Amino acid sequence: MVRMDDCLFCRIARREIPAKIVYEDDSSLAFEDIQPQSPVHLLVIPRRHLVSLREMKPEDESEIGHLFAVAAGLARERALENNGYRAVVNSGTWGGQTVFHLHVHLLGGRVFHWPPG
Ligand code: 5GP
Ligand code: ZN
Repeated sequence: MVRMDDCLFCRIARREIPAKIVYEDDSSLAFEDIQPQSPVHLLVIPRRHLVSLREMKPEDESEIGHLFAVAAGLARERALENNGYRAVVNSGTWGGQTVFHLHVHLLGGRVFHWPPG
């Protein structure tokens, strides 16, 4: 289990590790993915250390919902709305999660296919 002290995204939120932060508010922040998979690839995270959707509790609902509102706002700001974009949460190993601090990927600027593979 990764402790909050060691968690990469907690450390980015505390500004102990540099990242291109593009948005922040009281409960969330967004920054550029270090290995972008599309012209726009942002990660929206809660400031609080939530591990993944699997551990989600009823009291986390508004905080996690807010991440999607932030992602939608950033998509609007970056003119992704007309063509569309993808907002996804990889949850657990088989879901493709590699950093165990919950995050919404906001991907845009190219066509995405389904199923994602
Ligand atoms: P996951 O695979 O957990 O859904 O997504 C983790 C994402 O974090 C990946 O897209 C990966 O490129 C990104 N990432 C990993 N390490 C860093 C880092 O140190 N800085 C930033 N900005 N992104 C990172
Ligand atoms: Zn964390």
